[in-house]
Amino acid sequence: MHAPSQAYTPPDPVELLQQLIRFDTTNPPGNEAECIQFIHQTLAQAGIEAQLYCLAASRPNLVARLPGEGKAPPLLLYGHVDVVTTAGQPWSVPPFEGRIQDGFIWGRGALDMKGGVAMLLSGFLRLVSMGQRPPGDVIFCAVADEENSAAFGARYLVENQAHLFSGVKYALSEFGGFSLEIGGKRFYPIMVGEKQLCKLKFTVRGPGGHGSMPVRGGAMRRMGELLRQMDRRRLPVRVTPPVRAMFEGMAAGLPAPMSWVFSSLLRPALTDRLLDMLGEDARPFDPLLHNTACPTRLQASEKDNVIPSQVTLVADGRLLPGLKPEDMLADLRPVIGPGVEVEVLGYEPGPPQADMGLFHSLAAILKQADPQGLPSPYVMSGVSDARFFARLGIQTYGFTPMKLPASFKFAPLIHAADERIPVEALEFGSQAVYQALMANHA
Ligand SMILES: [Zn+2]
Repeated sequence: MHAPSQAYTPPDPVELLQQLIRFDTTNPPGNEAECIQFIHQTLAQAGIEAQLYCLAASRPNLVARLPGEGKAPPLLLYGHVDVVTTAGQPWSVPPFEGRIQDGFIWGRGALDMKGGVAMLLSGFLRLVSMGQRPPGDVIFCAVADEENSAAFGARYLVENQAHLFSGVKYALSEFGGFSLEIGGKRFYPIMVGEKQLCKLKFTVRGPGGHGSMPVRGGAMRRMGELLRQMDRRRLPVRVTPPVRAMFEGMAAGLPAPMSWVFSSLLRPALTDRLLDMLGEDARPFDPLLHNTACPTRLQASEKDNVIPSQVTLVADGRLLPGLKPEDMLADLRPVIGPGVEVEVLGYEPGPPQADMGLFHSLAAILKQADPQGLPSPYVMSGVSDARFFARLGIQTYGFTPMKLPASFKFAPLIHAADERIPVEALEFGSQAVYQALMANHA
């Protein structure tokens, strides 16, 4: 078990990331087995015996545990090893080579999230190499299938192997801790919450008939009106507690007039006007202040010459943290008007309310690593595996820290060509994760 030899040296996060990138774990199909085996061996070299849990042999998940003294709840570190496709993207380096060039490690997954896995694993192994029992267990978990349905990954573990995580209160994973320049200040947003999936179906009806005898004001027209309304109007402003914490945190660190802008975004009478005024710059903030329903799929007639008596629209609905599908329906009613049937096709509850218990300790680590940095809470408009672990009462913090040059734009590289991470940022993150493990167990 936990008995690394004196000579054990934890792996360098840079080499670890290069090796992880070299496994092509494009999902679908995933094929995460070899990559997971590599992590299994890396842990074995440190004297840590990991277990594999899987729904399908080609798609295992790994769970390892560093036993503590039982004086603190276990802390969970988890990350996914699958990546999204590179097909049709103009890469300037081979995406699965793990090349180091111009101060970056290049390759699919460098940011999302093999880079994070390398930070978490190297931080964990550094703790192991100290040879001391921490007060609470530390659980390291590498999962498959985050980029698809998680049926083989986190969802499988949570639904079938929940006992592995009993007693865990907090977890570290993607997505956060990377620096972001706003108004000349360097923020470190730490994810404390995320929106929730709430898929919607809208149906409108009208007289059908033969295409040679057009009808006016039928189902097609009604759908046209519905789409136009959904395009023109936002749903009502809703300020939820984690989003309030995020904007207030940012406002506190910014000089005037930007501090005023950020705090005023929380005043519903001003929110939409300010968002319109700020334009493209405020686009990432818009979905954090509203429930959203984005039209994605239309279905009308099956035949070219048949006028549909029914047209349906599926919308990708996203609910703010802590809210329920009823809130979405209430928000939609005034926008969609009468005569439109709406139903919730699917709802995946997310973390209920952010438990900020570990936030200040994580923020302090970043503040120490970068005294000019301003850590702040952050809410993600997308979803991650955090929603599955939340079902077990686990609060995830997005904590894969990176100190990035102001010129390096993180977001456009996610899922895109030439995904890469600065070598120094990876080392910064690995060090911060190690500090977090020490702090939690001090
Ligand atoms: Zn990811």
